[in-house]
Amino acid sequence: MTYYDQHLHTHHSYDSEENFEAYLKNATGYVVTTEHFDVANPVTGHTDAPDYATYSAEIDRLNLKYGNRILKGIEIGYYQPKEAEILTYLADKTYDLKLLSVHHNGEFDYLDEFIAEMAFDTIFSRYLDELSDAIDQNDKIQAHVLAHFDYGIRLFEVEPAALDKHKRKLTEIFQKMIAADLAFEINAKSTHLYHHLDLYTYALKMVLELGGTLFTLGSDGHKLEHYELAFDELKLWLKAQGVHQLVTFHGGSRHFVTI
Ligand SMILES: [Zn+2]
Ligand SMILES: [Zn+2]
Repeated sequence: MTYYDQHLHTHHSYDSEENFEAYLKNATGYVVTTEHFDVANPVTGHTDAPDYATYSAEIDRLNLKYGNRILKGIEIGYYQPKEAEILTYLADKTYDLKLLSVHHNGEFDYLDEFIAEMAFDTIFSRYLDELSDAIDQNDKIQAHVLAHFDYGIRLFEVEPAALDKHKRKLTEIFQKMIAADLAFEINAKSTHLYHHLDLYTYALKMVLELGGTLFTLGSDGHKLEHYELAFDELKLWLKAQGVHQLVTFHGGSRHFVTI
């Protein structure tokens, strides 16, 4: 089996208009989408949650036509004050793949333009504290993957040395991620559109040294153009770092794919 994108959005996410069929027609195997679930989203001023019934119905219809190639997923934007709302929403729903993310802190989304003018260390340290809290709750959330560890600093162009100051916190986060069986995501939008490949080299080395074995590759695509973005190059990069297997999630179990 060839590896398939583990982070993808369609029109079931508030910020995407893409259709399943665009991805299906450009893939040979499974397509899993990880739709945005962002509680109290400062970007829109309300909770953005996929309508599960509509999402499932569209998948059921297309699965008849495309030979059961679509899997269900969600990207859970953790925000501590609204944890109860998150758990209530997730309680009666099943997914093949659940990503754990932090996108905002109630006040602002980390991609808000003014963030780029803020002090890097202040922003990263606040973001890492929130990410750490999110991982602490994963026994309840039961996500499979820690998405884009660098989301909070996507707008900063920094050298990997800028992470040195935060190494203790990053170590703690990666240790907890590994203990929680969360896979570490290589986010192609971060590496190639926000030019953070060097930061991922730094982080991946840390995760490997801490004993991490679960890795995913996701484009974070919101349109076909970004589907499996730079995957060939990233697979070579992964192999050069000593990672030869990636993981996918399907029907409650993990599947390892050699790259
Ligand atoms: Zn995200
Ligand atoms: Zn995403």
